[in-house]
Amino acid sequence: MALDMGADDENPLSASQRRNRMRRRLTIRCFAFLLAAVILLPALTGCSLSGYFDWLGNQFFGNGETQDTTDRLPEETGQSETEQNKTTVDDVIVDLTDSAYSYADMQADLAMLAACYPDRFSYESFGQSFDGRQLYWCRIGNPDAQHKLLVVAGMHAREYISSHVAMAQAEFLLANADKAKTGGMTWGELLDECVLYLVPMLNPDGVMLCQEGISSVLNEKTEESVMSVYRSDLDYGLVPSDVTINTYLRIFWKANAEGTDLNRNYDALWSSYRKILQPCFSNYKGSSPESAPETAAMSGFIRGAGTIDAVLSIHTQGRTVYWDCGQEGSVRSETLSLAQAVCNVTGYSLNTTRNNDASLTDWMVLVRGVPAVTVEVAVGEKYPLDTSQVPGIVEETQTLFAAALYFVVR
Ligand SMILES: [Zn+2]
Repeated sequence: MALDMGADDENPLSASQRRNRMRRRLTIRCFAFLLAAVILLPALTGCSLSGYFDWLGNQFFGNGETQDTTDRLPEETGQSETEQNKTTVDDVIVDLTDSAYSYADMQADLAMLAACYPDRFSYESFGQSFDGRQLYWCRIGNPDAQHKLLVVAGMHAREYISSHVAMAQAEFLLANADKAKTGGMTWGELLDECVLYLVPMLNPDGVMLCQEGISSVLNEKTEESVMSVYRSDLDYGLVPSDVTINTYLRIFWKANAEGTDLNRNYDALWSSYRKILQPCFSNYKGSSPESAPETAAMSGFIRGAGTIDAVLSIHTQGRTVYWDCGQEGSVRSETLSLAQAVCNVTGYSLNTTRNNDASLTDWMVLVRGVPAVTVEVAVGEKYPLDTSQVPGIVEETQTLFAAALYFVVR
């Protein structure tokens, strides 16, 4: 029987030849399909060809980034995970962008520092302000250290930037204690030999009056006291006659809530200091040495602390360091050395002007024989100072505490 088998039938193939031909056709079709997929898919999805090949490569051969991350595991860099985390911006406790560093900000940061650095940081109250706020001191470093450095900030109300800077430097010291070095010693080694006592805000009532006005007072008697000083300053013509209470507090106020200047209330050359004779926004020395509760608490703390080796009193402004209290002998040369050490690390000028009398540094140097300098941070024409300069001040003073610690242990 004749069958129309078509052209192929003219050259009949064996069964094995047909299977081989089918395999070749199948292989060619599969290859063509894959080639079309490779070329057309990126075009259809908007993906670049190189990106597509990267993606393909990653599916088959793994992602190179995984290998990089593994290379940076903490164990291999010699840093603990905690240390690494502290170097990230998000974990900074003292916020340098805070426009007005308040008493509440400081309280929150003290609690956070104590939680994050329990081995090297603790704090407690050493008294109360006129309006009833707690006065805090911090212990940074070895509680049993042979030496002690005292740093006091926030003494003058409108100079509250000093509290902000002091708290930021406390954190910086702690965060870098095992890494940073001064004079060949790590900051942790310095803190083992010299404990840092920090009083970050000696005048919390004044700071809050300056930042938030008369509504910040906690007690009626405090409001009466502040309003009385305001009326007195108006009567004496010490301030413009049309200044409102809150503007007065914001741009002038330096004193505590009873109108005593805490840096004119110490028992050194107190009798001879007679610049202002009644409670005032500034420069009133008080009814007697240590009459202000804040000064009494500070002096009592210092008397009870045992030997203190050196003192930094942090104020604003001028980028300068006052050191001359009229002292003589070895404490004069020691105080000058401390001032020069501070100037060397900050770039601040060494000030040749004599201190005003009855200040904390006068008392430390002249009565207690301890090197003590006044460090004036920041620059500005009028108060309140522009707080946007805080990050810059923190940067230029970032080795200040370590330099003072090294001055003590050297
Ligand atoms: Zn001051």
